[in-house]
Amino acid sequence: MSNLKLCQGTKCHTYYTKDRLKGTKGNKTNQTRRRSDFYYGKSNFCSMNCQTDWFNDFGDRAINHFGRLEQPKHLTEQNAWVKDYDWSGGYDNREDRYFFVNKITEERRPLTFEQYNDSNYTLNER
Ligand SMILES: [Zn+2]
Repeated sequence: MSNLKLCQGTKCHTYYTKDRLKGTKGNKTNQTRRRSDFYYGKSNFCSMNCQTDWFNDFGDRAINHFGRLEQPKHLTEQNAWVKDYDWSGGYDNREDRYFFVNKITEERRPLTFEQYNDSNYTLNER
């Protein structure tokens, strides 16, 4: 029963909807939404509203905790690699289907399917 997650929205329980009204007859309360999955905020929020409520309450503290950007970042040859995919026809195991492309130099480098799907695999300097 409890593989269900709770929406992390700080005001979720204050929005009146039928599906939030839970409990036995005469004892019903409006409750935070609980579901197996959510579509917003990496599956933490039931709605954009709830995501925004959370950010309004905690966003500044979260940014300060993880490091507020104090200088603009620059896109350079060293960090301009993005993964791309050739959508034209052919077989999925074609060797040149997945590749890195450098958005500054336009250089291409081939990728294996595993590298393409590995979100930690990058050519970018961090
Ligand atoms: Zn919610």
